[in-house]
Amino acid sequence: MIKIIQGDITTLAVDAIVNAANQVMLGGGGVDGAIHRAAGHELYEACLTMPEVRPGVRCPTGEARITPGFRLPAKFVIHTVGPVYRDGQHGEPEKLAACYRNSLALAAENGCHSIAFPCISTGIYGYPKEEAAAIAVSEVQAFLSPAESAEDAEGEGRAPSRPLMEIIFCCFLERDKRVYENLIGKSA
Ligand code: ADP
Repeated sequence: MIKIIQGDITTLAVDAIVNAANQVMLGGGGVDGAIHRAAGHELYEACLTMPEVRPGVRCPTGEARITPGFRLPAKFVIHTVGPVYRDGQHGEPEKLAACYRNSLALAAENGCHSIAFPCISTGIYGYPKEEAAAIAVSEVQAFLSPAESAEDAEGEGRAPSRPLMEIIFCCFLERDKRVYENLIGKSA
């Protein structure tokens, strides 16, 4: 199930909220700063213990890492690093799609049944909002109705298994919410 809401992601009592983090994972501006402030210093400490894959990089662009939510109402924070937008010709769409895919996979692995995403990369990282939202929606829809596995299951006489996950697009701005509504309708 997909929902579109306008609000502050740090207030949501869901299993996981996704953080548009940076590679160092020690906090920053925008939604990252808001999440770190609301979760408390324990989140900073937890991020600090994440191993670096190279100096200064705990989470490469497109990948995701999970920590507890500490003082947040959310159980977990899934930190993912969106691409900095240049011109769309430097792997940005693939990297952004990977953020959604890897975050959803990590949520599923950790038994989450609800997850909220901010509009990754569309703030400081400058990704055009409509293009980013189209990628977000298409990855989420692919996750919720995996066509291939559904066909396999039907072929074997089993009911197709669809992941039971409530996926929320949490838009901070009213105009971001309208972008999602234009893509998937107001009923979501
Ligand atoms: P990035 O560096 O990935 O562009 P930003 O934090 O600058 O990340 O922006 C990502 C999105 O998060 C933007 O759409 C911004 O409006 C939104 N945002 C900022 N604060 C919050 C918040 N508290 N809850 C939800 N979304 C937020």
